[in-house]
Amino acid sequence: MQNEILTATGITKRYANHTALKSVSLGVPRQSIYGLLGPNGAGKTTFIRIVNQILAMDEGTLTWNNENLSLGHIYRIGYLPEERGLYKKMKVGEQALYLAQLKGLSRMEATRRLKWWFERFDIMSWWNRKVEELSKGMQQKVQFVVTVIHEPELLIFDEPFSGFDPINVNILKEEILKLREKGATIIFSTHNMASVEELCDHIALLNRSEKILEGRVTDIKSTYRNNAYIIHYDGMESSLRPLLHPSYQILEENLEEKLKTVHIRIPKGTGPNDLINDLLPHITIHGFSEMLPTMNEIFISKVNEFSTMSR
Ligand code: ADP
Repeated sequence: MQNEILTATGITKRYANHTALKSVSLGVPRQSIYGLLGPNGAGKTTFIRIVNQILAMDEGTLTWNNENLSLGHIYRIGYLPEERGLYKKMKVGEQALYLAQLKGLSRMEATRRLKWWFERFDIMSWWNRKVEELSKGMQQKVQFVVTVIHEPELLIFDEPFSGFDPINVNILKEEILKLREKGATIIFSTHNMASVEELCDHIALLNRSEKILEGRVTDIKSTYRNNAYIIHYDGMESSLRPLLHPSYQILEENLEEKLKTVHIRIPKGTGPNDLINDLLPHITIHGFSEMLPTMNEIFISKVNEFSTMSR
């Protein structure tokens, strides 16, 4: 596809007694933040390792801007693996410089860029300290810096937020958004569905070695919409239940505040106007919106659907 930086077609990977990927095809649009999701063991890390050419696939093709992915592309990819590790006894700055030079930067350019990043992450004063003196969060920051230092076009982060406190998670999220603004494409695998809601514009869901869902987050949410609405209103103190047709389901109601809130699911074949028409004579509506499912709800329902099918 024209606008995909990375396209996987029919990727199959077999380990000795387990097929970790079964003909997985997916496309990562340029400059997207692409979430690779799935339960443990789904095949996410295997896929990421194949893209990084650490593992070879058994079948399938991977293309980068429509040309076959080859070792030459490695410098254009930044990879932060889930199991991280820096040499504990080495000094932070010295080690970062070494790793940055491995990515093809000259010593001078590496120093310049590292200093910029270290200032930004407020870790400059640790430059001459040994890695083992750093907290886990600080070590993660150093690894993040080393991953992005050569300004690769594609960044792959495996569970980037694990081990970070909430403040640092936010710093990292902002950096990821800035990298995308500057033109990078980002793939990240995670279990943290809140970060998916916040960051991803595309996702692929893997389950038991197969891709079971892929697309733009907004399209997926609108496909899985389930006729649920949230209404803020006043003008009636007791439950709205008696006003509604029995087939309408009240999912949640909060009658404590002056402005009351109710979540209602209406049956297929009815629309929001039917609901509004039923309520309008009785209450004043201050707010009305559709409740789109969260990615977490979609994730759980898709995975359960496929587990039931394969039983
Ligand atoms: P995920 O990252 O989604 O948790 P992985 O890609 O790590 O999944 O693993 C997918 C499956 O492949 C798991 O069942 C795992 O046990 C198996 N697996 C991973 N690496 C190997 C290996 N080197 N040899 C045999 N099986 C493996």
